[in-house]
Amino acid sequence: MMYCLVINSGSSSIKFQIVDPESSATDEPLASGLVEQIGEPQGAINITVEGEKSREELEVVNHTQGLKRAFELLDARGVGPSQLDFFAVGHRVVHGGKLFSEPVLIDAQIESMIEDLIPLAPLHNPANLDGIRVAREILPDLPHVAVFDTAFFNHMPPAAALYAINNEVASQYDIRRYGFHGTSHEFISQQVPKVLGRDPEHTRQITLHLGNGASAAAVHNGRAMDTSMGLTPLAGLVMGTRTGDIDPGIIFHLAREAQMSIDEIDVLLNKKSGVKGLAGVNDFRALREMIDDGNSDAWLAYNIYIHQLRRFIGSYMIILGRVDAITFAAGVGENDVEVRADALADLEVYGIKIDPERNAVRSDEPREISTDDSTVKVLVVPTNEELAIAQKAAALTQG
Ligand code: AMP
Repeated sequence: MMYCLVINSGSSSIKFQIVDPESSATDEPLASGLVEQIGEPQGAINITVEGEKSREELEVVNHTQGLKRAFELLDARGVGPSQLDFFAVGHRVVHGGKLFSEPVLIDAQIESMIEDLIPLAPLHNPANLDGIRVAREILPDLPHVAVFDTAFFNHMPPAAALYAINNEVASQYDIRRYGFHGTSHEFISQQVPKVLGRDPEHTRQITLHLGNGASAAAVHNGRAMDTSMGLTPLAGLVMGTRTGDIDPGIIFHLAREAQMSIDEIDVLLNKKSGVKGLAGVNDFRALREMIDDGNSDAWLAYNIYIHQLRRFIGSYMIILGRVDAITFAAGVGENDVEVRADALADLEVYGIKIDPERNAVRSDEPREISTDDSTVKVLVVPTNEELAIAQKAAALTQG
């Protein structure tokens, strides 16, 4: 069996998985791990191999040391680079700008193109590049593949991709809607026609990736027509800690009235807002408990979340003209029965009817949760970005 090593490198952490690209979305990877608190005095490397967890606490001074030690620990458990036959290393790269609409084999030129995109993703791309450089240094003989979170949205219609902002400024600073979670939206939207036994070419669908980060996409003929995230992943739906869409005038107001700096506003909108900013927690299980206990902040946070979600679903129904399927995915979308029911409640007039019994079933399988007479099919499809990256790396390197 041939495996792909999938790496998602952040500024102070590296997540990795060893994935068989032929497995299914809900199969556990052969191994997974997390190097955490890189650059802090107390870091750690967590590894899970076939369900068995181990943790080593140590100071991880940089990405190179972290990844080297992680590979040693994988080797010690029989699943490291010296024992397994990896066919490629797949790297998650957040921002591909306008340059990348497909996965690419990484070489020095691609590295420098990813570097050129740093102004568009100042927190993510440098960290992704760190992972790429270190992994290429440690595993120089393997093909390394970059898979971009924005790629699926690269060919959206201009009316969806462009903002009504001054043309010259927009082109000088590459301001447009790039969209994110593209690997997940593409993966989900490819599963849907299979579940429904439909021709993908004639399937119009709305995909809802509802995790800690959340986004919606409108997809027609397998092609993205619109998405809720924008130049950055701050836009669109209400998220765990991010606002989603707000009036940009709020930023000027805070700068002028609260004398907040741009960096402080950045942190406020990205890390201290969303469900957490409204209710104090960002995990929907905790939010649900608070609602059940009668907490009014939690109830309001939930209602703002659902209202915004319905706003996007409604607008994508109009943009697509006809919708064949609406699909829920990611941590909240796959698990929260009430979110699914409330997001699509009282839409019978539009041909959308959730079956409460089907919706309540807990399962790891892709499934339909609408009634037989619902003209719009409603589905839950487990997403798996690492598997999608492994599959893309396989397609690129093995034909
Ligand atoms: P993700 O970003 O896809 O990993 O999703 C993480 C989020 O999914 C968590 O913050 C929770 O809000 C949510 N989540 C995970 N499991 C459940 C569950 N059983 N019920 C409701 N929400 C869940």
